[in-house]
Amino acid sequence: MHTYNYCPVCGSPLQTAEIEYRKRKICPSCSWIHYENPLPVTVAYTENLSGELLVVRRAHEPAYNEWSLPGGFLESGETPQEGCLRELLEETSLLGKIDRLIGAYHRESKMYGSLLVIAYKVIVAEGLLRINHELYEADFYPHEGIPQINIPLHQKIIEDARNHEYQPPV
Ligand SMILES: [Zn+2]
Repeated sequence: MHTYNYCPVCGSPLQTAEIEYRKRKICPSCSWIHYENPLPVTVAYTENLSGELLVVRRAHEPAYNEWSLPGGFLESGETPQEGCLRELLEETSLLGKIDRLIGAYHRESKMYGSLLVIAYKVIVAEGLLRINHELYEADFYPHEGIPQINIPLHQKIIEDARNHEYQPPV
């Protein structure tokens, strides 16, 4: 995670002070304050029309070689829904449609610091699955047969998505 020793605006050495109940770095010359905010990430819980779940094996850190749900960082200027579908398209060539929000989560990542993770249920109606360099493999699996997912947050997202599915109608 990136930390500053010098002010990115004017170049002065930063000092540390308690500002709004947290220790933060502040520039004594121009008063720039380093607010550390979480990075937004989207995750796509993606099903095909048979209700099978798309699971991918990652070819990069973090969670190298782990099975997971597809997703990635939002870009400036895009909505979370757009970012979610863009990541899915980039990684798998599949064009999805947002079905609904599953939830918003917080996670601490060694590599990136605080993350705000927004998970959507996505439906893919058709299309040829073709993975990019970020993945080793990807496929749709029936729910009782998905590969072992070890990332706790992705386990939680799957659980939350399924609990919602199985709620009886009110
Ligand atoms: Zn400064």
